Amino acid sequence: MQHFCIFFFILFTVQAAQNIETVNKAVPYLKQFGYMTANTTLSEAVSSFQKQAGLSQTGELNEATIKMMSVPRCGSGKQEEILRGVYQGSRWAIRNLTYNITDYPKKLEVGKVNEAIRLAFNQWARISDFTFTKVNGDAHISIGFKLHPKTFPNLAGTAKYPVFGGDIEFNGDSKWSTDIVTPHSEHILNLFQIAVHEIGHSLGLLHSSYPDSIMTPFFTQGVNGHIHPSDRRKLRKLYNISNTSKSDLPKRNYTMESVCNLTKIDAIIAYSETLVYVFNEDKYWMLSAWTDDITFDMAAYPKKISDTWKGLPATIDSAFVGVDNATYFFKGSQCWKFLYGENTVAAGFPKSIGDEFPGIPNDIDAVLDTQENKTYFFKGSKYWGFMINEIPEVNEDYPKSISLWNHELTAIDAAIYFMSEIYFFKDMDYYRYEEKHNTALIRKFPRPTALWWFNC
Ligand SMILES: [Zn+2]
Repeated sequence: MQHFCIFFFILFTVQAAQNIETVNKAVPYLKQFGYMTANTTLSEAVSSFQKQAGLSQTGELNEATIKMMSVPRCGSGKQEEILRGVYQGSRWAIRNLTYNITDYPKKLEVGKVNEAIRLAFNQWARISDFTFTKVNGDAHISIGFKLHPKTFPNLAGTAKYPVFGGDIEFNGDSKWSTDIVTPHSEHILNLFQIAVHEIGHSLGLLHSSYPDSIMTPFFTQGVNGHIHPSDRRKLRKLYNISNTSKSDLPKRNYTMESVCNLTKIDAIIAYSETLVYVFNEDKYWMLSAWTDDITFDMAAYPKKISDTWKGLPATIDSAFVGVDNATYFFKGSQCWKFLYGENTVAAGFPKSIGDEFPGIPNDIDAVLDTQENKTYFFKGSKYWGFMINEIPEVNEDYPKSISLWNHELTAIDAAIYFMSEIYFFKDMDYYRYEEKHNTALIRKFPRPTALWWFNC
C-alpha cells in the first residue's frame, strides 16, 4: 500500500510538472497571438485557439493543441488589431495600389522574390478590380523582411490592415522558397503562399477558421495560394463587388444635410469605441461603428446640438470627453460641462475658460484629451498642455508650435484620442499622429475624413 502511494505520488508530481511546463510555454503564445487577454481564462484562450485551428474545442492543452502551436504562422490579427481593423477605414478607398519591396531575404535571388510577390498579388487581382503595381520609392504597401522574432521563431509574417497602411513584413530569419510548388515545412516556407495570405490582410481581410482558407493563420503543409470561395466572398462584400457591376464602396441613403457634404468639422468626441459624435455649426451626427455587417445608422441625424445638450449656445468651438466621461464644450470665453448621461449643464457651469482651465486662452479651435490627466488645447498655430493635478497647470514652456505634432499642420479644426491613437482634423482631411515619425505612415496622410470616418 505504501509503495502504491509513493508510486501514485511520483506519477502525480511528474504529471503536474509537465502541465506547468506546458502552460508556461502556451501562455506567452496565447497572449502574443491575441487569444488570451486580460479578461480571458486559460481554458477560454485555449478554446478560441482550438476553434481557429480547426481542433476540437476542449479548452485543454492536449498534444494536438501544443503541436499546432509550433506550426509556422501569421502574426497579424491580435484581438486588439482585429477590433481596430474592422473599424473605420479598414478598406482601401482606391483600386490602383502600388507596392515596393524594401529589402530581400538572404540567399534568395531578387528576381525570384519579385516574381513570387507579383504572382501573390495577382491571385487577388484576379478576383477583384484591384491592380497592383511594383514601384521603387513611395508606395501604398511596403514589403520587407525585417521581422526577427526571438521568442516565436515560427512567426512567418505579419501585415497591417488598410487603416494602418497595409504594410507587410516577413521573417528575415526564415528559410524561404520561391518555388511556388514547394509546400511549407518546419524549415522551409513558401513565400508565394504566405504572401497571398499577408496581402489578404493588406486588403482588409481578417483570419478565417476555415482550414482550407488562405486566411487561416497556420501555414501547414499542403496549403496552396488558392483563394477559397469564403475569402473571395469576404473580399467582395468588403468592397461591394458584385459579379455584374464594377466595385464601389457601399453608399448610404443620406439626407440633404448629409455629413458627407461638410466642408469642416468643429469637434469630434467619443464616449466609447462605438459611440462617436461629430459637430458642425448647430448640428451633430452620431457615427455608429462599422462592424462586419456595416451598420451605419444615419437616418436620425443630423440633430440640433442645443436640443440634446440643454443650455449650450447654438454653435460650439470645440469639445472633448474627459477621463470621467464628462463632456466639455467650448465657445468664445466660456465652457460647459455635462456629466456622463446627463443632458443638462453640470452645477456651476458655464464658467469662463480661464477659471476652469487657468492658463488656457479663449476662442480655442480644438481640444485633445489623451486620458492621462493631460489635456491639450489648440488655437491657431499654437497649443497648450494642461495638467489637471499640477500647479501651475500649464507649464511655462507653453504655448508651443502645433507643427511639433506634425510638420504639415499649421492649424486644426478638431482633434480626438480614439482607440489609442491621436487624430487631427483640418478642413475635410485628417491626420493620425505618429510618435515615431514613421515616414511610411506619414505619407499615407492626410486622408479624406468623409471617406474614412463617415463612410461616404
Ligand atoms: Zn494572417
